[in-house]
Amino acid sequence: MKILVTGGAGYIGSHTCVELLNNDYELVILDNFSNSSKDVLDNIKKITNKDFTFYEGDMIDKNLLQTIFNENEIEAVIDFAAFKAVGESVSKPVAYYQNNVSTILNLLTIMQEHNVKKLVFSSSATVYGNPASVPITEDFPIGNTTNPYGTSKLMVEQILKDLYNSDNSWDIAILRYFNPVGAHESGLIGEAPIGKPNNLMPFITKVAKGELPKLMVFGNDYNTVDGTGVRDYIHVVDLAIGHIKALEKLNKENKGLFIYNLGTGTGYSVLQLIETFERVNNIRINYEITDRRPGDIDSCYSDPTKSKNELNFQTKKSLDDMCKDAWNFEKNYHK
Ligand code: NAD
Ligand code: UDP
Repeated sequence: MKILVTGGAGYIGSHTCVELLNNDYELVILDNFSNSSKDVLDNIKKITNKDFTFYEGDMIDKNLLQTIFNENEIEAVIDFAAFKAVGESVSKPVAYYQNNVSTILNLLTIMQEHNVKKLVFSSSATVYGNPASVPITEDFPIGNTTNPYGTSKLMVEQILKDLYNSDNSWDIAILRYFNPVGAHESGLIGEAPIGKPNNLMPFITKVAKGELPKLMVFGNDYNTVDGTGVRDYIHVVDLAIGHIKALEKLNKENKGLFIYNLGTGTGYSVLQLIETFERVNNIRINYEITDRRPGDIDSCYSDPTKSKNELNFQTKKSLDDMCKDAWNFEKNYHK
């Protein structure tokens, strides 16, 4: 089966491409390298010993999408291509809506023209806003997003629901990721943010490497086990496998529009993550408690029951693995 992966050179996309190739899918990757680099493509080949077709370009380019669908018998699409920096989305909302919403409208238009109606879409736990309780199930209310990035995901979810209502021959899986971290065990691909990282794990690895002096822990007065924020960290390889499970679901008997949380179901605090990183990697992380980051919430973790029951998806990797693999990649990267 031939799959188009948009944003396949990115963090989650590259790990998913590895799992797809390992499962004998044929791949066409589209990426404009706005947040990734060309080496990733070689590293995907190194890990899998398999090849794929690649197009460099922007998903906003309808002609390019048309060419890709004309030149390849695409049967399904996994769409990762988007901007994802929450803070930046506040200062550049138009760029975010353009890149995260307009592009998928182009994609859906061309998919319709070519009668390709299977789509896996990268959404986020951010659509739940500040949940009334945890763990979060898929039927929790969504909305009240606090930044344009989150709102862009909410908008695309709505677009996909409207599309499915208009034509239920579409098969769509909306995957709401919790906090993806870690890297492939080879150390060849991983999270390589351009500039100063916003997220916790890449910040920790930069401090461990000595590229940043100190981690600022945003608040220790939350209503959690030790006062620091609690999140559901999921190893990126487990997350990638979730996409294979979702594709299998779309290819099977139960067609329709499905929404799944992809998380482990367990929350860890910032201090627990630091402690685990220090222990498994035998390295000290310099940190300081500071004020809360605006918009942050106490706790966010998934109830993974639905994806377990319906996708047969169960995470295998522990927080130890996440910390080990994240550090292994950081050490390897730009040595
Ligand atoms: P990433 O930035 O590493 O990957 C995105 C890839 O898409 C990059 O390679 C980038 O160059 C490419 N891209 C962006 N806009 C493009 C365009 N218009 N045309 C072609 N290529 C384009 O991000 P990621 O962490 O791998 O995230 C993948 C998806 O998952 C995104 O949709 C993101 O919003 C979503 N998501 C990520 C997280 C997370 O914490 N990483 C959490 C929830 C959801
Ligand atoms: N965090 C922190 N310092 C940082 C980055 C993040 O203390 O430099 C905390 C943040 O407040 C949250 C957790 O780490 O409690 C995860 O934050 P991240 O930005 O990685 O993901 P989020 O869940 O906010 O999307």
